[in-house]
Amino acid sequence: MENEKDCIFCKIAKGEVPSQKVYEDESVVAFKDLHPMAKVHVLVIPKGHYRDVGEIASADPGLLAHIVEVAGKIAKDKYDGSYRLVFNTGPDAGQTVFHAHAHVLTGECLAE
Ligand code: 5GP
Ligand code: ZN
Repeated sequence: MENEKDCIFCKIAKGEVPSQKVYEDESVVAFKDLHPMAKVHVLVIPKGHYRDVGEIASADPGLLAHIVEVAGKIAKDKYDGSYRLVFNTGPDAGQTVFHAHAHVLTGECLAE
């Protein structure tokens, strides 16, 4: 996938914009959300630019499975393995950054 010009998460993936990274491999980066909504709130993003989670699912299902796997690993490393995984998709669902990202919420007992 092409990098999208001026995409903040492409820049974070390339290290051009600083972030607090908690995990990185050849295809994904995970970093702390600027405005945490839980004790541990990490975003897992593909290094390639995809608009949303549906686009990843269509183009590269294995990459989507890998994002879920990394989310689980973070929840085990940082807590007891429980986590909430959220993909806001589209403006009316609260998506504000149009580079697909998984919100991993963990680190405490989450409100329902
Ligand atoms: P969305 O609303 O698109 O589902 O989630 C975007 C998330 O990205 C928000 O939770 C917001 O706090 C986070 N965010 C936006 N810009 C930055 C940034 O430059 N650095 C980090 N670490 N998080 C960001
Ligand atoms: Zn991007």
